Amino acid sequence: MNSQNPSASVSPQQTSREEAAQDKSSTHVTHVREDVAMAGRCANVHLPTGRTCTLPLRHPGSCNFVGPEDAEDVAVH
Ligand SMILES: [Zn+2]
Repeated sequence: MNSQNPSASVSPQQTSREEAAQDKSSTHVTHVREDVAMAGRCANVHLPTGRTCTLPLRHPGSCNFVGPEDAEDVAVH
């Protein structure tokens, strides 16, 4: 009695490490003004108002959104 199993030779030993996303930061989507971010600022944009946070990057607390004119003052051109 020799029952052959054709699927026995398949070994699932391939592990793909490139699939794993290494991004441990928060994945919520934020809009960032690039010219303000280049100045080392938080640069988060409050989309409903179009205002930009000009506090330092990774500042504690909540964002302080300012108008476009104030954002221009810190933006890198
Ligand atoms: Zn901020």
